[in-house]
Amino acid sequence: MRKIQINAHWCKGCGICVTLCPKGVLKLEQETVQVKNEEACIGCRQCEYHCPDFAIVIGEDENG
Ligand code: SF4
Ligand code: SF4
Repeated sequence: MRKIQINAHWCKGCGICVTLCPKGVLKLEQETVQVKNEEACIGCRQCEYHCPDFAIVIGEDENG
């Protein structure tokens, strides 16, 4: 399983990652991003690449 690491202190709740995620893994709650469905994450890193505040990091999959 992927490890989605969120630094809630850096997230400003812009919603870019939620919009870009092709699998609906993320959601906004009280203006902070939350992981809704981590199992669906395919590790594409769109969220990580596009977050202007570096608030999301996707960990390596155990299977590479
Ligand atoms: S793109 Fe970054 S700052 Fe914007 S909601 Fe997602 S984690 Fe938060
Ligand atoms: S790595 Fe891709 S699938 Fe996983 S949460 Fe980020 S945008 Fe969604």
